[in-house]
Formats: sequence, C-alpha cells, structure tokens
Amino acid sequence: METVARGLQKSVAGRRIVSVRLGKTDFIDDPAALEQHLPGRQIEKVERYGKFMLLRLSARGTSAAGSENGDAEAASLLVHLGMTGQLAPCATAEPSLKHTHVWFALDDGRELRYTDPRRFGRMAYLTGALLAEELTAFGADPLLVSANEFAESIRSRNAQIKALLLNQGVLRGVGNIYADESLWRAKIHPMRRGTELSKKQAQVLRRVLQDVLRKAILARGSSISDFLDAEGEPGEYQRHHRVYGREGKRCYRCGTAIRRVIVAGRSSHFCPKCQPAPRLRTGTVRTKPKRRSGLGAS
Ligand SMILES: [Zn+2]
Repeated sequence: METVARGLQKSVAGRRIVSVRLGKTDFIDDPAALEQHLPGRQIEKVERYGKFMLLRLSARGTSAAGSENGDAEAASLLVHLGMTGQLAPCATAEPSLKHTHVWFALDDGRELRYTDPRRFGRMAYLTGALLAEELTAFGADPLLVSANEFAESIRSRNAQIKALLLNQGVLRGVGNIYADESLWRAKIHPMRRGTELSKKQAQVLRRVLQDVLRKAILARGSSISDFLDAEGEPGEYQRHHRVYGREGKRCYRCGTAIRRVIVAGRSSHFCPKCQPAPRLRTGTVRTKPKRRSGLGAS
C-alpha cells in the first residue's frame, strides 16, 4: 500500500477530476456522492493510512470563487484495495481491464481506474466530521510523524514502550520485528514506560524507527502493511536484523547475550546491557539499589 500510495502521489497528485463513471458499486459507501461531489476537485495529495489510502481533494470551485453549495470544503476519497483492488492511471484510449468498476477522468486526458475482481475493497467520499471519525481510530504514519508529535504521543502515555509502538492508535503499521529493532538501536528497554522516556530518547527512537522502516521497505520493495506481523519473515530484510530472533546470541554492540521477554503479549528481544531495564516502580523505597555486578561494569 505504501508503494501504491507513493506511485499515485507521483502520477496523479495535482490533477483535477473531470468526471466520474461507475460500474458495480457494492463496495462504495455512497456511490451518488462520488458522482456528485468529485468532479471539479483537484487531487492534492495521496496518503497512506494503514491499510487504506486517502486521496486528499481540494475544495470545489477554487479558493477564489468559493462556491456555497457545501463543496467549498476540502474532502477526501478513501480507498481500500481489499485483496485484489488496483487503482492506477491509464490512457483513456486504453481498453478497460475486466473488473474495472470506477473511472475518474482527469484533466490531463488520462483516467484513474479502479479495478477489483473480488470487490473486497472499499471506497468512500468523506468530508469534515465523517473523515475525522474515520481517522481517529488511526495513529500517526511513522514515516511522516513530526518529532514533536511523536515525542508527545509517546511521553504522554504510561504504557510500555513496546506496546505503544505496536498500538495502531499511536502509530500505524509498525510490526513486532521493527519495534524490537528500533528499540535496540535506540537503546531503550521494551518495558520502559512512555512517560519515562526523555525528549531526547523519543527523538532518537523516532529517527531509528524511520530508518528501520525505510530499509525494510527498500529491501522488500513493498509496503509495510504487507508484512505487518510477519514473524521471522524470510528474505532480504532478515539480514539486517540486529536483535530480533537472536535470543542467546551475542549483542552486535556489546557482546552480551540477547534476551527475550513477552511484552504486550509479543516476543520482545533486547540486550540487557545496552537496553537497561526500567527501575522498579513498587511502593518499597530502596535506598541502596542492589545491582548485580557484571552488568554495571563496562
Ligand atoms: Zn548490547
């Protein structure tokens, strides 16, 4: 989905939708709304939200004219490709593939076509409150989230950092492997609480998380969401694993044996030395913290 969204951003952002033609519409929330409200709007941006895309659309009638029929508001077209959906621009002269159900004529003479043999996807025209409602269930895109936004959403939550990284309401599309790899790189124990992280740690975590995800996308040439929870997935990316799946093996940084614990119901791999465990937060006050020797000395 990430690669599809990026491809569309390159190929159709900036184009205006001239007209809409529909075939089968059982996967569309309100087909009439598409026909009525899309023509005249410009596709400003194509964004990925977890498993679906949003085509951000301009207000109709341009800012200068400012039409008064409810179309003066920006809107979005939500597209979920389901299992078999495809959305791609084609030359208008090109014959439509079988199972093409939506044709958006663009102002450059091409057509953006939606093809889906099984129609498990979904398409919806959304504005204002409806769009906000759809989006509240989703956290930020880890590749687009700003440093401040990231730090704020992590440091305002008391849950364990591993759980926060996997929480789709906080960040979209971060799988188990990528969470472990990022925490190792940032030297943060998976059980640390979001509220315990410093601003600096949050910044580092965001940076390495983005790096890990970008590398994974490059290695796979496909979307993050495609392999969201691919435990121990084969292939190119595995060669980049620094900690995931390496229980008992030596930490690449310090040589300590990697450990595995269950956090948020998921296997979590970490280096007990590079990623120090959080302090106990029990009621008992320990004036002299007892530390195992061997860990402290470096
Ligand atoms: Zn280590």
